[in-house]
Amino acid sequence: MAKHHSLGGSNTYTWLNCPGSRKSIEAAIEAGLIPEESPGNKYTEEGTVAHALGEICLDMGLDPNDFYNKTIPSVIGKKRTAKYLNKSELEHIDLTKELMTSEYIEAVEIYVNYIREQHSIMEGSTLLLEESYSLENYVNDDCGGSADASILGVKGLLEVADYKHGKGVVVEAPGNPQTRLYGLGAILKHNDEYNFKEVKLTIIQPRVFHTDGAIRSESLSVKELLKWGRTVVKPAVKLLNSDNPELIPGEKQCMWCRVNGICKANAEQALMVAQKEFSDIALPDDVLAEPQTLTIEEANLIVSNKKRIEKWLNAVQAYVETAVESGSVELPDFKLVERISNRQYKNEKSIVRRLKRLHPELNPYDEPKIKSPAQMESYLKAEYGYKPKEAKALVDKFCERVKIGIALAPITDGRKAIEPPIKTEFAEFVDNDK
Ligand code: SF4
Repeated sequence: MAKHHSLGGSNTYTWLNCPGSRKSIEAAIEAGLIPEESPGNKYTEEGTVAHALGEICLDMGLDPNDFYNKTIPSVIGKKRTAKYLNKSELEHIDLTKELMTSEYIEAVEIYVNYIREQHSIMEGSTLLLEESYSLENYVNDDCGGSADASILGVKGLLEVADYKHGKGVVVEAPGNPQTRLYGLGAILKHNDEYNFKEVKLTIIQPRVFHTDGAIRSESLSVKELLKWGRTVVKPAVKLLNSDNPELIPGEKQCMWCRVNGICKANAEQALMVAQKEFSDIALPDDVLAEPQTLTIEEANLIVSNKKRIEKWLNAVQAYVETAVESGSVELPDFKLVERISNRQYKNEKSIVRRLKRLHPELNPYDEPKIKSPAQMESYLKAEYGYKPKEAKALVDKFCERVKIGIALAPITDGRKAIEPPIKTEFAEFVDNDK
């Protein structure tokens, strides 16, 4: 099993950019404000399952579609499944209950197909899965991580790929410190044998729209990557271990930081942004302004900073909930209460029996709806052996994409800008009026 390093993985953004983060996290753990291990959630669990599925398929030569609507252990057995998950993952996720839905299959298939294709294009290359890279000797600290897939080419090319199952945050390939760190680890570990010249660092993130597509890479020469290690990683680790490391808040480092909900520097910066941006807006003491009373510039400032302030508010909320639930603090204005689910049957068979006795013609079942296009494709592939392109072509013949409305998107969004409908209608009205 791969060793977990305190400096590595998705927290790389944090420790590389905020020297004071490690000491803040350690102090928060010591004070009992946050647990020692980051608690997982639904999304991290989904990511773990998807990674396991990808690794199993690549390692055992299976197709993600072989798992459609089945559990992983039902296909490869419980013992083998346990080989692909570490102890804490096995404690938290019951794979005997987790069905491989089309969401898993379609996303993981893109990853698996890409890695297989690259491996075969790079003739004579070696594919390593979950290869552990340690930079402990390089930086003199607990630094490193496991790369999802490393393809070691014999012609001087190394490719390191990282699969991202999440769809909440778009992960960029250029300058990505996590893949760079793995690339650096791979050079340190394998360069003597392979003599690499170029490193391709790839992000595969199938569930998020990106103008460059689901698979995006940056390519660096070995020299450039080694320079990055020397000028960025080494000094950052040195600063982390200095006596009074500075807290440097910023969007990316705070987003992934474990103390973002309790960190003063992060709070001050979020408030400063809010105050600076909204300082010209005259708000009554206890009421927020009605949207229609804002000028368009004020509204623009609020909408463009919405995400940043929301993130901070969510981080504070998550911190407060964890702290109160753990019993370490009490808040005067809040209390813990039971969460109650929606109504559910105690025993489905009993109610069906009773209703049938009362109304023999009654059908208690909600007829299943037709499968979604994505589910239909997966189903055709899994049950009838269709190739991905064939299944897509067949299903696409019966599909259409209809406009369901318009949305406000940041100017950097890849979609084409459209004219406001009112403006178009108004123009037609003026034309007709002539
Ligand atoms: S929340 Fe931001 S500023 Fe605070 S320790 Fe973490 S990364 Fe640094």
